[in-house]
Amino acid sequence: MLNVSNIHKRFGNNEVLKGVDLHVEKGDVIAILGPSGSGKTTFLRCLNFLERADEGEITLGDITTKCTKASKKDIINIRKRTGFVFQNYNLIITKTAIQNVMEPLLVVQKKSKEEAKRIAMEALDKVGLSNRYDFYPSQLSGGQQQRVGIARAIAVNPDVILLDEPTSSLDPELVGEVLSVIKKIAKEGTTIVIVTHEIAFAKEVANRVVFMEGGKVVEENNSSEFFSNPQNKRTIEFLNRFL
Ligand code: ADP
Repeated sequence: MLNVSNIHKRFGNNEVLKGVDLHVEKGDVIAILGPSGSGKTTFLRCLNFLERADEGEITLGDITTKCTKASKKDIINIRKRTGFVFQNYNLIITKTAIQNVMEPLLVVQKKSKEEAKRIAMEALDKVGLSNRYDFYPSQLSGGQQQRVGIARAIAVNPDVILLDEPTSSLDPELVGEVLSVIKKIAKEGTTIVIVTHEIAFAKEVANRVVFMEGGKVVEENNSSEFFSNPQNKRTIEFLNRFL
């Protein structure tokens, strides 16, 4: 469904991604793990052109494009088919929960207001927030704001949801509610690529794990093999810090 090959990205002289590949099948839940600074977030952002890679190719469904050559239309089409969940929620503070979820439905998908409202309400219901649909972000906890962020991503019914460290801005007591929403949508068959530091969560929910370091994938395996029998020295060191 999503195939990404040979992604390179530089910021000035700093080569942050040095040829990263990723293959995602429908229904996959892929956790991207690795130490801070290894390029995980940048890689995820390259997938839907929040950053433009300097080299590499992306195929999503019937769209195939070289990253450097992607047209505006390709980028819009890729964004239409991907939901992105940000570390810091990225909600519009002047809009209510439901208005935030409706935004991409109206702006990107050009749905009517009535339809957008109906779909947004369903999405808020999925994340357990239908009773707070008219709350502003400032009236919601961090966990609730992130659940609105997830509702906004799933509402457009994307081929794949990309989550960038969705719990790393949260107070520890709020992490669980967000992880259980992600677990729920994963169980429903949503295709997910998640950058996370929640190792136990990755172990439980992901079917595949990609381990990055220094802008490269150094190990990739199905989840049970990855955790029970890691091969790479760096992976073993990384996991030993958590186990
Ligand atoms: P990770 O998600 O694994 O922590 P990142 O992708 O956030 O890694 O960052 C990888 C490297 O890229 C870091 O050295 C970071 O400073 C650098 N970097 C990320 N975004 C930018 C940017 N917009 N401009 C310059 N450097 C950046």
